[in-house]
Amino acid sequence: MPTSRLEHALVLGGGLAGTLAAFALLQHADTITVVDRDRLSGEQSRRKGAPHARHTHVLVSGGARAIDELVPGTTKTLLAAGAQLINLPGRYLTLAPDGGWFPRFPGTQYILGSSRDLLESTLRSRLREHQHVRFMDDTDVVGLTGDAAAVTGARLRTRSTGHLLDEAADLVIDTTGRGSDAVGWLTELGLPSVRESVVDPGIFYATRIFRAPDEAGPDFPALNVQSSPILTPEVRRGGTLIPIEDGLWTVTVAGATGDHPGIDDDGFAEFAASLPHPVLAELIAAAEPVGPAFGFRAHANRRRYFERQRAAPRGFVVLGDAYATFNPIYGHGMSVAALSAIALRDGLQHHGPEATAVIQRKIADTSNSAWTMATDQDLRYPQTVGPRPGLTTRLGYRLQDWLGTKGMHSRTVATAQLDVFTLSASPRQALRPRVLLDVLRSPRRPGLPAPPFTDDERHVLAPTPN
Ligand SMILES: Cc1cc2nc3c(=O)[nH]c(=O)nc-3n(C[C@H](O)[C@H](O)[C@H](O)COP(=O)(O)OP(=O)(O)OC[C@H]3O[C@@H](n4cnc5c(N)ncnc54)[C@H](O)[C@@H]3O)c2cc1C
Repeated sequence: MPTSRLEHALVLGGGLAGTLAAFALLQHADTITVVDRDRLSGEQSRRKGAPHARHTHVLVSGGARAIDELVPGTTKTLLAAGAQLINLPGRYLTLAPDGGWFPRFPGTQYILGSSRDLLESTLRSRLREHQHVRFMDDTDVVGLTGDAAAVTGARLRTRSTGHLLDEAADLVIDTTGRGSDAVGWLTELGLPSVRESVVDPGIFYATRIFRAPDEAGPDFPALNVQSSPILTPEVRRGGTLIPIEDGLWTVTVAGATGDHPGIDDDGFAEFAASLPHPVLAELIAAAEPVGPAFGFRAHANRRRYFERQRAAPRGFVVLGDAYATFNPIYGHGMSVAALSAIALRDGLQHHGPEATAVIQRKIADTSNSAWTMATDQDLRYPQTVGPRPGLTTRLGYRLQDWLGTKGMHSRTVATAQLDVFTLSASPRQALRPRVLLDVLRSPRRPGLPAPPFTDDERHVLAPTPN
């Protein structure tokens, strides 16, 4: 078992991945410095470095468990602060791609509904309890120090004064998010560029927070109105409603290239009414908006293969969105960051801080499922920019559609698919013999014709605005 300990670890970027990476380093480093260009106190959604924090951020159960492993008690703290435990599919109504609704039953997986502010501030305040973690706010990372063989620190610039300084460290973690310049920094050290894959669905999001009507009650379900790559591949409109803390709903609607939702009052409501089912529009018409809608042109699915560099420098690891970004529609980015932080912690434990190439490979592995799910699904839409799906992927679509329609009413099949969706099991698990047998035995039946609300829940709906 390796024993060498880090004197100083530098975490570049103090967003969600950076915060979780710092937790992963707690037992391995004497001092951990978290650097961010923003001031990290106060409401996260107001800070410049995290404009996405205003948008719906669900934490799937695989990610929630990973965070609890790194930071014990987080879920409990979030629930005590009002975050919502949304059982899948018991409290989550989903319009399936065949145009019918999935049946509801109490499942084993869940998502946590909370604002991103609540999640991030809960984690950061726990991190601040550790005396050997220090924060350098208001500081830009402008490069790395070292050479092609080893990274020895980072070059930083204080934003308020422009002062430049080199901060030495024996391990540097890049978590500066989707705008990370890690490839450029490595090139400046004399390393070749890093291969990347891009699949761009051209999605535009609009999110608005609503106060739920009193009649909705504390257990009102979340909703997911998906577009259908089978029925209407040329029109990609979808939306979600997620209950969060303080009796609020976060509602996001999304459209693909050239078909963007409006962010003014009417534009947002009209877009919601135009989704494959009008239920979101009926619900928000009964709710009270809290502030305006915000738009966001989501970045593409993008992955940079740092683990495949022929000559990776020692002392440098990339994780979170800096390593891979996913179409947020699938709600996986934060959970992958949590799983990657665990890979970092375990890699340091089992292989020691010298083994950064091995650790980077383990981090890459934690992205595989989410990457395949997002890119395979996005490539079903003709407007997505990226390499067209090959034969294996196309056969995968047929299998997925068959599982979807034949297994629509099977709890075994739904459970297996939810295990995969929540990053709690590998996609192979959804194809194990027991699941396939159940699919073969299930009659082909369409989904439910309407969202499976209880009578009390149905009373919350307002008539659709025309
Ligand atoms: C619209 C939208 C909705 C999403 N919804 C979900 C969801 O429902 N579920 C989910 O799991 N994921 C979701 N995601 C993805 C999720 O937001 C990301 O995966 C997650 O934020 C990754 O965290 P990160 O720390 O890697 O990056 P970030 O959150 O982007 O943090 C990067 C940090 O680095 C700092 N920084 C950047 N550059 C520098 C620099 N040069 N110097 C100093 N500091 C720097 C920034 O200020 C920031 O604090 C969504 C994303 C978007 C865009």
